[in-house]
Amino acid sequence: MGRLAIENVSVDFGGVHALKDVSFAFESGSIVGLIGPNGAGKSTLLNCISGITRPTAGRVRLDEAVLSERNASSVAGLGIGRVFQHPELVLDLSVRENLMIACHRSLGYGLVSELLMVPSVWRREREAAGRVADVLRRLGIADSADAEVRNLPYGHRKLIDLGRALLMDIGFLLLDEPIAGLNDPEIAHLTELLFELRREFGFGILVVEHNMPFVSRLCERLVVLDLGQLIADGRPADVLGDARVIASYLGE
Ligand code: ADP
Ligand code: MG
Repeated sequence: MGRLAIENVSVDFGGVHALKDVSFAFESGSIVGLIGPNGAGKSTLLNCISGITRPTAGRVRLDEAVLSERNASSVAGLGIGRVFQHPELVLDLSVRENLMIACHRSLGYGLVSELLMVPSVWRREREAAGRVADVLRRLGIADSADAEVRNLPYGHRKLIDLGRALLMDIGFLLLDEPIAGLNDPEIAHLTELLFELRREFGFGILVVEHNMPFVSRLCERLVVLDLGQLIADGRPADVLGDARVIASYLGE
């Protein structure tokens, strides 16, 4: 179990107030949607949690640890997984190879031990291959394990990026527009997959997404940002019927 808390976070980019005094918290095991019109500050908030952007004021905590004082790799090491809107994969390598790289990173392999290929490295290598095979199976892309990423449809690439996050021991998963560019069957598959993974691993999910049917189905709670401010927080049916939320989207 764990609790991720955004506490009075503000972010200024020069004169732009991307986030203004935003506070909310959620527990591992819950699925929260972060919605709001373009430019509302959603990606900036995910960046604050991931240690990519430092808040101008306020802080982000994972239980007692203050994430907003750490850098991105340290935050990842504490179990905050991030899936980006546009996955950055090595296109010339296979799906399996991309995941092996992620596995090495998460286990903190050094170049020296790689080069020496000491027996313990061989053992870890086998272990890593096993974990990668397991993740491939879970994501339903084991058949494409040896295909070069450049030959795969976009939907598969997003799953590989999700796979990279799963190779770390995550307590929370942050998803930025996970279904952008996916077709209906891929969206249905991802929805079921996220429910299944949450059930099995118990992590919390914070998902930024514009597609309301998707977030309403996936999330038990929605947090709404508009112009950097939190304007609603509650159950999807209540939030989507909220006059202020409707007005913020109409004003877009
Ligand atoms: P969203 O993801 O909700 O569309 P963003 O978090 O990307 O919104 O952006 C929030 C606001 O902050 C926007 O006005 C955007 O132009 C601005 N912004 C985001 N990142 C930067 C940056 N690195 N430098 C300057 N302004 C930024
Ligand atoms: Mg964004």
